[in-house]
Amino acid sequence: MDFKISEEQLSIRTMVREFCEEEITPNILKYDEEKAFPEHLIAKMGELGLLGIIFPEAVGGAGMGYEEYALIIEELSAADPSIGLTVAAHNSLGTNHIYTYGNEEQRARVVSHLTQGKSLASWALTEPGGGSDAFGLKTNAVKSGDHWILNGSKTFITNPNYSDYHVVMARTNPEKGKAGISAFIVEKGMPGFTVGQPMNKLGMRASDTAELFFEDVKIPQANLLGPEGQGYFNALGILDGGRISIAAMCVGIARGAFEHAVRYSQERTAFGRQIHQYQAIKIKLADMATRIDAARLLVMRAASLKDQGQKVNLESAMAKLYASEVAVWASNEAVQIFGGYGYIKEYPVEKYYRDSKLGTIGEGTSEIIRMVIARDIVKMHAIDAPEPEMV
Ligand SMILES: Cc1cc2nc3c(=O)[nH]c(=O)nc-3n(C[C@H](O)[C@H](O)[C@H](O)COP(=O)(O)OP(=O)(O)OC[C@H]3O[C@@H](n4cnc5c(N)ncnc54)[C@H](O)[C@@H]3O)c2cc1C
Repeated sequence: MDFKISEEQLSIRTMVREFCEEEITPNILKYDEEKAFPEHLIAKMGELGLLGIIFPEAVGGAGMGYEEYALIIEELSAADPSIGLTVAAHNSLGTNHIYTYGNEEQRARVVSHLTQGKSLASWALTEPGGGSDAFGLKTNAVKSGDHWILNGSKTFITNPNYSDYHVVMARTNPEKGKAGISAFIVEKGMPGFTVGQPMNKLGMRASDTAELFFEDVKIPQANLLGPEGQGYFNALGILDGGRISIAAMCVGIARGAFEHAVRYSQERTAFGRQIHQYQAIKIKLADMATRIDAARLLVMRAASLKDQGQKVNLESAMAKLYASEVAVWASNEAVQIFGGYGYIKEYPVEKYYRDSKLGTIGEGTSEIIRMVIARDIVKMHAIDAPEPEMV
């Protein structure tokens, strides 16, 4: 067990930190108020390898592992959580689904385009009728010769206005339940496919979120992702990796809020003393630092296991649950330490507070994640079950 960060990981973190200081930090309020993703960052992030972090060089990626990925997402999110979310959804959802379950032709045609920052990718599972019960989905695709005809809609999808490629889960055989769902690559500009206006959100306002609409969209057989009927099972695998990045994003949010709070507690005086000298503030800072470290350790355990090729269903769920709740709690504490200034936009803590809430909702709400964890725990401790299988 080694808790040290390697020299190479340190230099990756420094590179991302410098990118944030130059390109992101000075503009976070502007990006938030414009309610639009800063499109010019796509090419810049592509050049730095941030849009192909976890993919091999053979497909234009940076060839890094999940440990480096978690470090990068934490760093981006400590600067601006919206950018962290954008990069996380692009890497571990859209691009990763095509890389992991696509064939050689799809990898060469689509993944290389995405890793090099020619566009973002989106991944569309959630529908207006329900996200938690995602596999009750209504969007359907019917085979017609060498094509599929896609109809339905998706909502709350990250990145679609900046994506040339969208991974879309649809029902292809209503009689087969979970085994009747397939994934497709839907391309920008396909007739019948439209993306809605960016949604007006509480937080993560510089991350693009929109609806997708499909009206008799003709999808070539070459855009079916993986074998027909595997979409449900493959999407679960994608979410396991995705939750590590959402957890890392939440560590970044909590850390960003915490660092501002520690600094402010030394600048602000009340009753003639710096406020960090008061026990009430000391307790907040100590608890924040401890819980953020605990969250990061859970993230790094899941990332390390993922890099070793092990199943991380339980570990990524625990990391995501804990880190997201720490982010909401820590950013709330940061606003409290700032007092009135925490409530206005002169300081970014109100923004961390707004942004943090997404962590307990996206890629599985805290309620659903607790169900995932409990199911695995009960299986592990099942009576008379010598080799419980992890889902
Ligand atoms: C900014 C943003 C970005 C997103 N990006 C994407 C994306 O890129 N791709 C994508 O596919 N989706 C995305 N989502 C959707 C997100 O994953 C869903 O919002 C989430 O899964 C919850 O679904 P829902 O909103 O329909 O809530 P519902 O499923 O309607 O849940 C409502 C409430 O009921 C609770 N609940 C539901 N079922 C149970 C149960 N069995 N037991 C206990 N409680 C339950 C939930 O926890 C929640 O509190 C995004 C959402 C947001 C807000």
